[in-house]
Amino acid sequence: LQQIRCMSKANPVIDIDQVMTQAQEAFLQYRSLSLQARSGFLEAIAAALDRESSALIDTASRETHLEPGRLRTELQRTQWQLYSYGKACKEGAWLDIRINSPALVTQEDQGQPGVAWQQHKREHDLRKMLIPLGPVVVFGASNFPFAYSTAGGDTACALAAGCPVVLKAHPAHLETSKLVAACIASAAESCGLPAFVFQHVEGGLEEGQALVLHPATRAVGFTGSLEGGRALFDLAQKRPVPIPVFAEMGSVNPVFILPCYLADDPVGLANKLVTSVTGSAGQFCTKPGLVIAIGGDALEHFADVFADAVSMVPPVEMLHPGIAKSFQHKRAAALEVEGVAIAGTLSCPVGRNDSIPTLARVSGADFIANPLLHQEVFGPYALLITCTDIAEMAQVATMLEGQLTATVFALTEELRDQPKLVSILLERCGRFIRNGVPTGVEVVAAMHHGGPYPATTDSRFTAVGADGIRRFARPVCYQNWEDELLPPELQDANPLGISRMINGRVSIQN
Ligand code: NAP
Repeated sequence: LQQIRCMSKANPVIDIDQVMTQAQEAFLQYRSLSLQARSGFLEAIAAALDRESSALIDTASRETHLEPGRLRTELQRTQWQLYSYGKACKEGAWLDIRINSPALVTQEDQGQPGVAWQQHKREHDLRKMLIPLGPVVVFGASNFPFAYSTAGGDTACALAAGCPVVLKAHPAHLETSKLVAACIASAAESCGLPAFVFQHVEGGLEEGQALVLHPATRAVGFTGSLEGGRALFDLAQKRPVPIPVFAEMGSVNPVFILPCYLADDPVGLANKLVTSVTGSAGQFCTKPGLVIAIGGDALEHFADVFADAVSMVPPVEMLHPGIAKSFQHKRAAALEVEGVAIAGTLSCPVGRNDSIPTLARVSGADFIANPLLHQEVFGPYALLITCTDIAEMAQVATMLEGQLTATVFALTEELRDQPKLVSILLERCGRFIRNGVPTGVEVVAAMHHGGPYPATTDSRFTAVGADGIRRFARPVCYQNWEDELLPPELQDANPLGISRMINGRVSIQN
């Protein structure tokens, strides 16, 4: 592992200053690597993961207790992320290139207000593109040992942007993380990349905080708890030079069901939701945690089916003892709130670190009165809220904080009559879903996996899809530079064939 330093607790001295100095040195070379070469690196990592897939899945399954089938799918998704972000990297649209050249004012603007002034004032050749921020610290997530961890989305985006990565491994799957780091090392070596373009650091809170505080760190990627994400965000803002922290944290992913849709198929809908709530022991950031509907016979039928199905889901060991403890504590606290009752849960005894699939119920009024119920219970738990009417449903929506997703199950005609509910939810979510469950995040350019705080610390960016590359880059404008001195991305001849905006028009020509 010539190009990657694997630091361990067995090695008592973790020299964070040395790690970040090396990352900064790597940045000076890596930022100049062509888009094509960066893309090749990401593809080589995907191929290395493929070669090691059996060992990776076995190790991750042992460490996280997740099903091998689920882990195989997650590994394939991780490879797709690397491949597709690499492809986007070399296509270059993410660079957001804008060129304004005084010689090329468009005819169709002639005669419009202010155009004469603008033509008179225009004397500079201005060319803008995104450039890499610098070394990025990524915190691996506990619940996605591949897709959001060592070679996961944040790492792939930062490497595509031209930033070296220092990965703080999640202690819940350390061996998996080390195997993935070795795959990245072999890919880096085969691509002849600068040493220390990727470094793997083990440690706890102290090491994580030191990485965030180091002056060479230019950005942070994080997936985990609201407490952890917020603490690291606050730390980063207190630095002499503050840096962005892209933290994806808690979300309750509310699901609103309108009456006509519910009456049409209460059984089918209940079965769909129970799978989404309890899959992988509910340890997904997009797990639906709140289900909101209006009281009546259809709702009672739906609730009975939902409750029966939940009570038949077997318990499984959760990701790590800390998550199990947190789940059991938050579930118990929610169930103690006045007006909350269990509708369906397990009747058998469970192991110490096991999940307890649960459906609880509460009235709209009690939900509105108790902010504790608005918080995420990370695990196989959902709260069914019975509202008296659509006005109370809208009031419940108003109480919600920022979310990764919001879902509406409704017939087209009944939703057409609810612009207020639609508008309240739109304000609060990053992905707005019709008649489908929020779990299952597609990795494509149009995906947005983010949302208003506290779902994330910056609702303008996504953690999934190639647009996530932009998190780790910043715009710079070149003014009046000779063509030959400009980076190829901005040269007149457009040698890389990148789609660019030239004087307000999309162009892949010069
Ligand atoms: P976590 O406790 O936030 O930890 C995630 C990573 O951040 C770990 O590497 C942890 O280091 C580090 N970290 C946390 N707080 C820190 C601080 N103050 N300073 C420096 N480093 C810090 O998340 P977790 O272990 O994955 O799960 C705990 C809870 O997070 C869950 O019960 C759940 O509620 C929530 N969670 C939510 C999502 C989601 O997507 N919504 C995903 C996963 C977890 P150490 O572990 O070394 O201490």
